Amino acid sequence: MKEGILLKGIGGFYFVEANGEIYQCRLRGRFRQEEKEFLPGDRVQFREIAPGQGVIEGILPRKTKLERPAVANVDQVIIVMSLGEPPPDLELLDRLLILSLANGTEPIICWNKADIAKEEFIGLPSLYQGLGYRVLVTSAKTGQGIELLRETLKGHISTFAGPSGVGKSSLLNAIQPGLNLKTGEVSRKMGRGRHTTRQVELLVLKEGGMVADTPGFSRLYLPEMKREELASYFLEMEPYESQCRFHSCLHRTEPDCAVRRAVEKGLIPRHRYEHYLKFLGEVIEAERSY
Ligand code: GDP
Ligand code: ZN
Repeated sequence: MKEGILLKGIGGFYFVEANGEIYQCRLRGRFRQEEKEFLPGDRVQFREIAPGQGVIEGILPRKTKLERPAVANVDQVIIVMSLGEPPPDLELLDRLLILSLANGTEPIICWNKADIAKEEFIGLPSLYQGLGYRVLVTSAKTGQGIELLRETLKGHISTFAGPSGVGKSSLLNAIQPGLNLKTGEVSRKMGRGRHTTRQVELLVLKEGGMVADTPGFSRLYLPEMKREELASYFLEMEPYESQCRFHSCLHRTEPDCAVRRAVEKGLIPRHRYEHYLKFLGEVIEAERSY
């Protein structure tokens, strides 16, 4: 039995990568009857029945599962923001950081377009690094930081995320010419009159690693959580939380709040605290519908 990673499924065929080879596999009948879901990124066991062809016999437990697009076992999300045009959307960034952490994946902020960075944004990479996040500074145009990005992707299943126009597709193309992201329309009407989400596919990088061919997080609703959990997703707030007078402090108007004190002292950036308050409102609103 061989073990590999499912790259894509099309019309009953499943393409599996194992030790640098790609096998075209069918599902064992049992799985078809169970209508078991197989996703790109799933680790599968298969039997080779002819050179390059196999039958999938087993699926290993998933470590993570992202939705929209659905990919299994993604372990890092490359959140791309531009330092030039379009200007960085810091609220979206903070939302994506939470989504990534809550899904069990490591967020890495990739500050792109360093070649046309605007003065007012130049401090952002070190600011976010100081908060505790991993950051990269790149230019798909000049090649700055691309080798480091390539290294970062090695040995991982990654997905890009971020608004359109920041250079996600250009970065992938800079890493490996010929690779591009599918962007734009999300679903297409199929012949049977059914709406089906476009298939995602994992791309295999020559120097190691796999990347989803569709950017992640097309829906930006915050994950289901208890209101007390939210602050733990703001890495720089965590150390102060335990110093608040009330264990259940939400860091709004409660007396003797260490988080608010840290904001006043400039130890927590004000824009991050404002996003925290905004997101807290959304989490509380969503709690009612659980
Ligand atoms: P996506 O929508 O995030 O995939 O963004 P694209 O890769 O399509 O890039 C959007 C535009 O920004 C294109 O015109 C690119 O040529 C340009 N672009 C991408 N990366 C860079 C960069 O690092 N520097 C500069 N100056 N332009 C870039
Ligand atoms: Zn507090």
